[in-house]
Amino acid sequence: MSNDENTPVLRGCIKLPLANDELLEVTSKAKDYAIMHGAAMRSKTAFSPDSLNFAPFVLVPSSFPRKEFEKAIALQPIINRLMHNVAHDEEFITTTLAETIKVDEFTANLFNIYRKVLAHGFTQAYSVGLLRSDYLAHVYEGCAIKQVEINTIASSFGGIATHLVPLQNFVLRELGHAEKLKHMPKNDALAGLCDGMVKAWDIYGKPESVILFIIEDISYNICDQRFHEFYIRETYPHIKVLRRTLTEVHREGKLGQRKELLLGTTEVAVIYFRAGYEPAHYPTQGEWDARYLMETSLAIKCPSIHYHLAGTKKVQQALAQPAVLERFINDPEEIKAVGKIFTGLYSLDDNDAGNANYEMALRTPEKFVLKPQREGGGNNVYGVDIPDALKRMTRVERSAWILMDLIHPPLSQGYMVRPGSEMPPQIVDMVSELGIFGVVIGDADNIVHNYQAGHMLRTKLSTANEGGVAAGLGALDSPYLIDSDGEEGYY
Ligand code: ADP
Ligand code: MG
Repeated sequence: MSNDENTPVLRGCIKLPLANDELLEVTSKAKDYAIMHGAAMRSKTAFSPDSLNFAPFVLVPSSFPRKEFEKAIALQPIINRLMHNVAHDEEFITTTLAETIKVDEFTANLFNIYRKVLAHGFTQAYSVGLLRSDYLAHVYEGCAIKQVEINTIASSFGGIATHLVPLQNFVLRELGHAEKLKHMPKNDALAGLCDGMVKAWDIYGKPESVILFIIEDISYNICDQRFHEFYIRETYPHIKVLRRTLTEVHREGKLGQRKELLLGTTEVAVIYFRAGYEPAHYPTQGEWDARYLMETSLAIKCPSIHYHLAGTKKVQQALAQPAVLERFINDPEEIKAVGKIFTGLYSLDDNDAGNANYEMALRTPEKFVLKPQREGGGNNVYGVDIPDALKRMTRVERSAWILMDLIHPPLSQGYMVRPGSEMPPQIVDMVSELGIFGVVIGDADNIVHNYQAGHMLRTKLSTANEGGVAAGLGALDSPYLIDSDGEEGYY
């Protein structure tokens, strides 16, 4: 990554390093605490449906600037409304994705579903957005947050993140630092997200109907889905959750007389997609047919196809162009506030502007990240690798990608704890990415629910470009809020 020795280090929550004995003891306890409280995942290397490993976590909460955290929280309802309005702007989505879908088959397949649904009219007017807006603090602008991306499908870790606060609280207490807990914001992501699904279930209004989770063939991040399922059953005992893959929906699903989605004889009120965001989730036409079937059904989708498309990187890039926000937000103050969280985003479409951006990327690749229309990590190209990647593409192929300014986050130092890693852990340099969850429910004319719904912090080694938690370089964390302190700032 781009961090050099000059990258500042945020003031830590407690003084490190810990003495070896104390570190060993607290880490062992924390691992068991994590497993026993569901901060856990299935192992990829020794998979068994009967067992869990603890999820990689950071032992002591990582610092995050309080002012920036609070800004992100306050912005979320505005971002929710922005994304809702974007999703319902047919003209904007169609023009924005026009070049991309000529070369990106996956986005084209999604867009085709959108087009077919538009042609027949939406059976269900309501959508639920369970969004997550991701940020890095940018050291060149006083640690102001910059949006990395906005997720409109399968926004994950709301469940586990909720349990990370108690885990790190436990660790801080064990280490004799109970006085620090007041700087860790409480996190109700799980309840916020699930309540959103249940509000949609209420709108659907059929007492016997269920909530359907669309899942991968193997769910490694199982806790983060089961927490949602169990929370719903425990809080709303009359509501059942079913889990099905796209392949199973293709086999079992059909539409009833009112276009209601039926699995056997069970009617589905709400569909929550935890899969369907990457090409591998659609191994055959059958899975695409299942997606289309659900999209044309009366069930309320989370997300509906237009929400999914609104979350593409290409749409994010279009939104960051001057004067575009005015199309979706009325209040000038809100436009200013949202505009400030965008960093430079550039089109690579085959036109004058796109070609100039291409030349700029070849000249100063170290300033950029190159992103395709994909979700789920591991798809981007960074810095010095960009010229080769771009040169391998034809002019039209470039329009499947966007270019983004590299954000330079501050470092923090701490202990990352991973299954099977050395004990006790070593102190490492890390950077943290904050995700803020939002829930928005409505139709083309009205928003009926709009709220911020908790947060998550994902921390990675500073040397890694990306910090996929399951991928091996990232770990779950929660923010320890620090204030800027005169001269020293946050450092
Ligand atoms: P995905 O949809 O695969 O999650 P992201 O846009 O979130 O794609 O990028 C993945 C990761 O790459 C982010 O979590 C972040 O660590 C890193 N990243 C993405 N964009 C930037 C950027 N502009 N500056 C610095 N790091 C970035
Ligand atoms: Mg991401």
